[in-house]
Amino acid sequence: LVSLHNVHLSFGDTEVLRGITMEVFRGQAVSVIGPSGSGKSSILRCITGLLRPQRGEILVDGFDVQSLKAEADLIALRKRVGFVFQQYNLFPHLSVLENLILAPVHAVGISRQEARARARALLAKVHLEDKENAYPGQLSGGQQQRVAIARALAMRPDLILFDEVTSALDPETVGEVLGVIRELVEDGMTCVLVTHEMAFAREVSDQVYFTEGGRIVESGPPERLFTDPRCERTRVFLRRGV
Ligand code: ATP
Ligand code: MG
Repeated sequence: LVSLHNVHLSFGDTEVLRGITMEVFRGQAVSVIGPSGSGKSSILRCITGLLRPQRGEILVDGFDVQSLKAEADLIALRKRVGFVFQQYNLFPHLSVLENLILAPVHAVGISRQEARARARALLAKVHLEDKENAYPGQLSGGQQQRVAIARALAMRPDLILFDEVTSALDPETVGEVLGVIRELVEDGMTCVLVTHEMAFAREVSDQVYFTEGGRIVESGPPERLFTDPRCERTRVFLRRGV
């Protein structure tokens, strides 16, 4: 569903990605782990077309992301790819339900009635069916993040990218958000997770990539990578978290 081949990205003289090659098959959960500044978020932003690498190939759902020039094509790509960030970025002046129907109504053009029905089903999925009339400010961080996940799902994406979605949360609410992601993975949603939650990555991933300095140092199935890393750098990271 997603493939990156030898992707290089620079900002001025700074090489941020130095030849990233990775593959995500439909229905898989893939985790990207690695120290701060290693390029994890940049990889996700390249997949959505938000960043344009200087070299390499990126295919999403058969689309060659690099060749998309027209704004309409990029918008079409972003409808297929859900993105959830550390900061949930909900619209504070809109209710939870309004947050969920905005994009489907305005960007896809489905009726408000249909969007509302979908939104309610999604709120049930993230276990917030009683919060549709609440405003984001009235919700805990974990609840807001679950609304942000429902909002991404409302566009019926083919895959969802999660960028450290639990990093800003209180420890008590991390579990409820990870629980929702686990259920999505079990439902067969294709997911790419950038995370510092190693136990979670180990539990849900089909494949794990360890990045450092804009390169993939090592990748493999979680059982192998976490228990028997081949590279010393991975070993150190898993032991110390940096
Ligand atoms: P973290 O774990 O801290 O989120 P990361 O692995 O997600 O880190 P990236 O955000 O992808 O890392 O950043 C990789 C490198 O690219 C960093 O050194 C960062 O300073 C640099 N970088 C990112 N965005 C820009 C930008 N717009 N201009 C210049 N440099 C940037
Ligand atoms: Mg990041």
